[in-house]
Amino acid sequence: MLLLVNSPFCTPASPSYSLTYLYTFLKNNSKLEIDVFDANLLFHQLKFAEYGEYFQLLKNILAHKETFNDKKIKKSFFDTFEKKSNDYKQTSFRCYSENNKKIVLGQKPEYFAEVLNAIVAKNPKYVAFSVVYFSQAFYTQELILALKEKGIKTIVGGPGVTAPLKKYADYYLENEVLLLELLKNGEEESKNIEKKDRKEYNKQQEHIELDHSKLNVSRILDYSIWPLDRYFISEPVISLRTNSACYYQQCAFCTHHQSAKYLEYKLEDIRDSIIASGVRNVYFSDDMISTKRLLALAEVLKPLEVSWTCQLRPTRDLTSEILKTLHDSGLKMIMWGIESGSDRILNLMKKQTNTKDIAAILKSSKEAGIVNVAYILFGFPTETKEEFLETIKLLKDNSEQIDLVSTTIFGLQKESPMYETLEEYGISGIQVENRTVLDPKITYTVSSGLSHEEVKKLRRGYAKTINNISKFPASFNFFREQMLCFVGKN
Ligand code: SF4
Repeated sequence: MLLLVNSPFCTPASPSYSLTYLYTFLKNNSKLEIDVFDANLLFHQLKFAEYGEYFQLLKNILAHKETFNDKKIKKSFFDTFEKKSNDYKQTSFRCYSENNKKIVLGQKPEYFAEVLNAIVAKNPKYVAFSVVYFSQAFYTQELILALKEKGIKTIVGGPGVTAPLKKYADYYLENEVLLLELLKNGEEESKNIEKKDRKEYNKQQEHIELDHSKLNVSRILDYSIWPLDRYFISEPVISLRTNSACYYQQCAFCTHHQSAKYLEYKLEDIRDSIIASGVRNVYFSDDMISTKRLLALAEVLKPLEVSWTCQLRPTRDLTSEILKTLHDSGLKMIMWGIESGSDRILNLMKKQTNTKDIAAILKSSKEAGIVNVAYILFGFPTETKEEFLETIKLLKDNSEQIDLVSTTIFGLQKESPMYETLEEYGISGIQVENRTVLDPKITYTVSSGLSHEEVKKLRRGYAKTINNISKFPASFNFFREQMLCFVGKN
């Protein structure tokens, strides 16, 4: 039996998309016995039961229309939510960090026996971990080592897989076809591949194209495999993707696509997944969706009467009319990749956006009834203090249109396109610091503009200004799925 496991730690707001897809793909293409287990959810139920109950009981409050119509009630709800969510965020982050430190020191993390026993009790031959976030790498590593001692084979895959995980797991596989092959062919073929050659083997295999004539590539996902009513949220939200990757793939800092082939998934599969799940809130986790595709998606979603959200680049083809059509189909919230209020920085980032269009699009979106979340990326290499302040100005000038601001500080990543031409970005003096569980940390110096420390200081200094622009509690940045449930009621 193959057990697909979601490891601690990540926020247990909704089930794993990648494991749901993997389950569906393997079920559609084999008669293998497959089960799923959300170890992350179990950990949080054991450690943070009180918070879980609070988030689930929000459904009773959100069921009353007065919560949204009465300003006083809404404020009181937001204040309590902010306090509870911040408590939870701080407590849980401290807990993750303490447990990760324990693992680095060779100690067992909390609830390890409970999580391990729950996995072993299912009697799996193979356990596959989809590691989406680096924060899952530590606990996954401990589980792999413990399962190994029990003679259970382990498999890892996903964007958060680190070099140590590749080393400790029996198999590191880059896609679902390789996993299917491994499971179907048994271990015989794989046994012949020496561990040291596995990476090479994966490389050779990674260009396998899905043979549509032989493989069932239906993406009608079965979310009923998860305990949907036990997540830390007022009502279930499911994640779906409409494409395999971003079609644009040009932003200099982006590591999301890594030149992945752009494939569009069947809209009928998306529709049928939503209908089968019975869930009213859909979080499209695509990094970007084209306008043409959004309109096609809207047509499919409108009759379903669901609330949905997605991430978009603010490009001028998103006209008022189009945004209205999208809102009518249930698009309640857009997370906009605004990044900067400086046109020079936007050009350097290769966003192909500009501040004039951004302001116009935010206005049209707001007028259409959509809630706008603004993603901001401070400290892009060579950004000056004046350019940092241009971003603050853009946020202030458009504050009426912006519901929530989400800021982050630039970090250089090897997988980003800009890593190939660092001199273009004034970057030199690269330093790579190896870490025990995570991949190496990269630091650098810039020829001009703000240093990392200066950006951090400026962001701290403007935190209050930024918070005052947001109409929603800042903690919704941590609970976007919950925010969707909330805005879906309006
Ligand atoms: S940042 Fe977004 S729009 Fe830009 S390449 Fe990455 S995924 Fe695509």
